[in-house]
Amino acid sequence: MKVEFLKNSSTILAVDCSKNIGKQNERTLLMGKHASFSADEFFEAHEVPKNVVTCNGGEAIMLPRPRILVVDDMRSNIELLCKIFGDTYEVLFAMNGATALHIATTQNPELILLDVLMPEMDGYEVCRRLKSSHLTKMIPIIFITGLDDEGGEALGLELGAEDYITKPFKPIIIKMRVKHQIELKHAREQLTRLSITDGLTGLANRRHFDEVLSSEYNRHTRTGRDLSLILMDVDYFKIYNDTYGHVNGDKCLQRLAQGISSIVRSTDLAARYGGEEFACILPETDLDGAVSIAEKIRLNIMGLEIPHLTSLVADCVTISIGIFTARCVSGESEFHIIAEADKQLYLAKTSGRNRVSFKS
Ligand SMILES: [Mg+2]
Repeated sequence: MKVEFLKNSSTILAVDCSKNIGKQNERTLLMGKHASFSADEFFEAHEVPKNVVTCNGGEAIMLPRPRILVVDDMRSNIELLCKIFGDTYEVLFAMNGATALHIATTQNPELILLDVLMPEMDGYEVCRRLKSSHLTKMIPIIFITGLDDEGGEALGLELGAEDYITKPFKPIIIKMRVKHQIELKHAREQLTRLSITDGLTGLANRRHFDEVLSSEYNRHTRTGRDLSLILMDVDYFKIYNDTYGHVNGDKCLQRLAQGISSIVRSTDLAARYGGEEFACILPETDLDGAVSIAEKIRLNIMGLEIPHLTSLVADCVTISIGIFTARCVSGESEFHIIAEADKQLYLAKTSGRNRVSFKS
C-alpha cells in the first residue's frame, strides 16, 4: 500500500498494489478531506500492515486508467463496487454528498455511481447540484439503489442522471452499462470539440469565436475591465494561392495558425475568423498588453520565413493586424468591437501592411 498526498490538499490517494494480482490490477481509492473515516481506519478495514505504508507528501500519482467515483454511505457497498470496477477503473469514493461534490469538482471522474439514500444530502440533491454546475454537468451519473420505486427512478432520470440501476444487480450488466456511458461521454466530448474547432487549422472556428466574444463582452460589462480584440489578415494571400497553389495555401494557413497559437496565453482565444483572417480575443487585457501580444505574433509569423516571392511587402508571408480595446458598456454589443478592430485592420493594410494598427 502506497499513500500519497495530492499537492496543496489534504486529500489522500491510496493505491492498493497487491502482490498477487500485480500492477495491472492495482486498485486505487481516494478519500476526500470530508470523508467520514480516517486513513488509519481505512487501512485497518483493509488489513493493511502499517509498516508498508509510505507517505511522500509530494506529487499526485499519474494513473492512466479512467476514473469513476462511487458515492455510498455504506462501506460494504463501496467495497463491492470497488471489487467489480477496480480492475478496469481507478475507483474514487465518497461516503457523503459533500465529499462527492468536492471530488467530482476537483478530480474530474468519467462517471459517478450514486447511491440514493444517504444522510444529510441524498443522491437526488447531489445529482441536482452536479448537473447545475458547468464544471460537473457533463459527468454521467448512474443511480444505484435498493429502492425499486418507479417514482424515484423517474425523478433520478428527470434530474439528468443517465441511468438508474436497482439492486440486486449483476456485475457484468453494471460493468457494461458503465462502459457504455463512458463511451457515450467520450463521443459527446469529441462532437463538442469538432463543433467548435476549425478543421483546417485546429484553432477555434467562427461559431465558437462568436459565442466566446459575446459571453466575454457580457462578462466585461459586469466587471468594467478592458477587453481587447486582435484581427489579422494574411498579406497578399490571394497572390500566394495563385503562385503556390491552394494546397500550399492551406499548409501556409496551418503554419500561421501554429505561429499565432504559440504566442497567445491560455486565457486568450485564437480563432480562424474567415478564409485568411484570424482573430484573438484577449480578456482583461489593456491596449498596451494587446499591442505587445500582436507585435509578438507579427514577428513570430515573419520568423517562420514562409517564402512568398510575389508579396509586395516582403519575400516571406506577413500579416497585418488591427486591434481595438474596449471598456464594455451595457447597451452596446460585441459587434462594435469587431467593427472597430476591422477599421484598424483596414488602416494597417492601407498604410503599408505587415504592421499593427490600434485604438482604444
Ligand atoms: Mg445509502
